[in-house]
Amino acid sequence: MTASIIDGKAVAAALRARIAGQVQTLPFTPGLRVVRVGEDPASGVYVRNKDRAAQQVGIDSATLHLPEETTEADLLALVRRLNDDPAVDGILVQLPLPAHIRAQTVLETIDPAKDVDGFHAVNAGRLATGQKGLVPCTPKGVMHLLAAAGATIAGARTVVLGRSNIVGKPMAALLLAADATVTIAHSRTRDLAAECRRAEILVAAVGRPGIVKGDWVSDGAIVIDVGINRLPNGGITGDVDFAPASERAGAITPVPGGVGPMTIACLLENTVEAAIARRQG
Ligand code: NDP
Repeated sequence: MTASIIDGKAVAAALRARIAGQVQTLPFTPGLRVVRVGEDPASGVYVRNKDRAAQQVGIDSATLHLPEETTEADLLALVRRLNDDPAVDGILVQLPLPAHIRAQTVLETIDPAKDVDGFHAVNAGRLATGQKGLVPCTPKGVMHLLAAAGATIAGARTVVLGRSNIVGKPMAALLLAADATVTIAHSRTRDLAAECRRAEILVAAVGRPGIVKGDWVSDGAIVIDVGINRLPNGGITGDVDFAPASERAGAITPVPGGVGPMTIACLLENTVEAAIARRQG
C-alpha cells in the first residue's frame, strides 16, 4: 500500500480561514500576548510566526520581549498584570526560559482561563478528568489531522510514542476521550517495535530522527509524525522513517508540512475559545 499524505498545511489553512471568519462575527477583538525572554534564536522565529498568524486572523496580538537578565519576580509580575488586563484573553510564555527562571512556576502563574498553551496543571487536570478546558496546541492539532484523514478513533488501537506534558500525555488523554484504546510508549518501553506494530493509529512524539522504522508500521495504519529534528543542512526531519513507512501506512503526515502548521492554527483556535469563554463568565 502507498499511503495518502495528510496535508497539514492545507488543514491548517482551512482552520485559520474558519477562525478568521469567526473573529469577524465577534462583537469584540480577542487579545493575545506572547512573552519572550532572552535571545534564543529558534524562539524568535516561533514568536514572530505566532504573532503574525494571530494578526492575520484578526486577533489583537503583540509580543513582549524581555531581556535575558529579567528576574523571575519581574516576569511573574508581568504575567499577573496580563492576568488582570481585561483586553488580554490569551497569554503565551515562549519556552525555553533562561536557566535562572523556573518555567513551571511561570506557567502555573498564568490564569488558567488565559492559558492558551494549555500547560497549566488546572487545564491538564481538566483534560484528564474529561472537563472543558484549554488543550495543548500540538495534540489538539493532531486530532484535527486525524479528523481530516477520516480516521475512526473510537475503538481503535492507538499508540503514542512519548509521554511529555506538552505532547505525549495530552495526546493520549485526547485519544482516550475519543474512545480509543491507548498505549503510551517511552524510553523505558521494552519492545517499541512490537508496540508500534499493533497500532492502527500511531503518533510519534520522541524527538529522534527516524526512530520509527518502516516495518514498525502495520498495513494501512495512520501515522502522525510530531517529531521535529534539525538536520545539519538546516532542514528538519521527523521521527518516522518516512519512505518505507509510507509504503505500508494508509495515511501519513510529512515533516515538514504535517503537524507543525497545526500547532499555530490551534493556538489561534484556543485564543478565540478563551476569549469567548471569558466573556460568557
Ligand atoms: P520530550 O523530550 O519532552 O519527550 C520525548 C519523549 O520521547 C519522552 O517521553 C521520552 O521518554 C521519549 N523517548 C525519548 N527517547 C526514546 C526512545 N529511544 N525510545 C522511546 N521513547 C523515547 O519531547 P516533546 O514531547 O517536547 O517533543 C517530542 C518531539 O515533538 C520533538 O521532536 C519536538 O521537537 C516535537 N514537537 C513538535 C511540535 C510541532 O509543532 N510539530 C510541537 C512540540 C514538540 P521518557 O519520558 O522515558 O524520557
